[in-house]
Amino acid sequence: MSPRFWFVLPVLAGFLSAAPPPGATPLSPAAAVKSVAPQVPASWKAGAATLKVTPQKMLWMAGYAARKKPAEGKVQDLFAKALALEDEQGGRLVFVTLDLIGVPQALRREVAGRVQAKFRLPSAHLVMNASHTHSGPVLRTAPLTEQEKDNPKARDAWDYTQKLQADLVELVGRALEDLKPARLTWNKARCGFAMNRRRDYSLPPGHPNANRVPNPDGPVDHEVPALRVEAPGGALRAALFGYACHNTSLGFHNWCGDYAGFAQQYLEEFRPGFTALFMTGCGADQNPYPRRSDVVPGVTDLELAMQHGRALSNAVEMALTVNPRPVSGPVRAAYEEIKLSYARPGREDHDYPVQVIKLGDDLTFITLGSEVVVDYSLRLKRELAGTAGVWVAGYSNDYTGYVPSLRVLKEGGYEAAAGWAEDVEDRIVKKVHELHGRLSR
Ligand SMILES: [Zn+2]
Repeated sequence: MSPRFWFVLPVLAGFLSAAPPPGATPLSPAAAVKSVAPQVPASWKAGAATLKVTPQKMLWMAGYAARKKPAEGKVQDLFAKALALEDEQGGRLVFVTLDLIGVPQALRREVAGRVQAKFRLPSAHLVMNASHTHSGPVLRTAPLTEQEKDNPKARDAWDYTQKLQADLVELVGRALEDLKPARLTWNKARCGFAMNRRRDYSLPPGHPNANRVPNPDGPVDHEVPALRVEAPGGALRAALFGYACHNTSLGFHNWCGDYAGFAQQYLEEFRPGFTALFMTGCGADQNPYPRRSDVVPGVTDLELAMQHGRALSNAVEMALTVNPRPVSGPVRAAYEEIKLSYARPGREDHDYPVQVIKLGDDLTFITLGSEVVVDYSLRLKRELAGTAGVWVAGYSNDYTGYVPSLRVLKEGGYEAAAGWAEDVEDRIVKKVHELHGRLSR
């Protein structure tokens, strides 16, 4: 633990305690049970479940290749959460959100298979999304080789992931068991700390800002969509919310959900029994700013993560309260894995998941695998704009590195380095339209 971190601990204790700061008034019970849309019929059933997934051991941490040692402590617990919805015809949908680096394909397939067998939930009706926190454990789905069996780094990651798989199946079961009558509304707000982290490729090489990041003129998606799940009497039971930005305010050796972890924590505080679930959007080329201590004198990384968490939770509070839009059924869902090819011949194609889910004609979820740049969400929201709101998530059902748009691929840079063929955007967007068209008929 660095000296700086010791200094932060007393401040942190104040932030993290359940007691409101002096002068603050926690939500009154009356405010907590008031419906924002009593005219909307409570035509759904909904259930939620939460599981702590903070590693018991000090495992190696995911996200930054430069780390030289495993985790040393915990600032905040990591959680897996499940939200189950059931429409009037009995059609079900389950969201699983993880305060973890990603959803490896093998993990998704294993959990989806077991959930289908055990609870008869079709694979297309399961969404698995990760917050991409860089303060969580390394996951490992490839079986250990003989040599690796004596390597604690590999073995611990494998053991953790195996247990996680089994635990997530149980978690989905608990959310389904919790199904109770509910009213669904949604809306969106805005939050501004995400900035495009790529340099401005339109500048000529000699320009003084040619290699500077972040780029204030670069594309961003500042929308904060939020789905409100309330009991028929109005009590808020769960909220699913999204934001398109890396969870990289932090680069230390402590377990933490970063800004998304704090946003969920702040939303849940003072609301007993309420579950807040975070879904990452298309944030592959977005970082939270200000970022990493030196930017703001006297403010630590951790305080920045908390500030961003507070900003995001405030936006979610707005989205949950102001001008609620009714969400009706039925649930219709489609999931397919397409082939993505690499530019370099000889590299095997990758199976890439594309999922479209429609809640009646009110809300459409598009979930894409891996680290998708913001161009995807901006384009899909524009092309699918209509009666239904469009909510685009990345980091879903697969975790295989960066997926650039054609623009980013041509510009080059970090998010283009995986070497996908130039038709990568075209294949993904075509499949989204095809699935969306199929569900809309
Ligand atoms: Zn990333």
